[in-house]
Amino acid sequence: MGLYEFSQGRRFLVRVPRGEELVAYIDRLVNEQGIAQGFISGIGAVAEATIGFYDQKTRDYHERELTGGLEIVSLLGNISRREGRCHAHLHVGLADHSGAMYGGHLGRAVVFLTELVVVEFTGRELERVPDEATGLVCWR
Ligand code: ZN
Repeated sequence: MGLYEFSQGRRFLVRVPRGEELVAYIDRLVNEQGIAQGFISGIGAVAEATIGFYDQKTRDYHERELTGGLEIVSLLGNISRREGRCHAHLHVGLADHSGAMYGGHLGRAVVFLTELVVVEFTGRELERVPDEATGLVCWR
């Protein structure tokens, strides 16, 4: 069924400093804090970003690079185990100076200022494993 129940653990508010690469920073954060399962959200702004689109037919990611300063309209993600490490899977909606939106899987981003809310889930471990039906690495 794919329904997994957890208890709520620690909660964090995190200000990510200017110049940090956001995906690497979050990876470091969840592994240093040992957050194996959870929820992450964020707002702020980035100087540049790389976002991905998963082509369901070819099963390839297509990347798009964005520059020139962008608002993080929404950063959403979940945290679970992947290959034994704490792993944050992040999606993002970014707006440019005209308000045009771009969105997708967040590959990397250079922070101007980003504020995160991180909520830890406890009670069991959830591992990502390869999924034949989608070609992705999904929760078991
Ligand atoms: Zn994704």
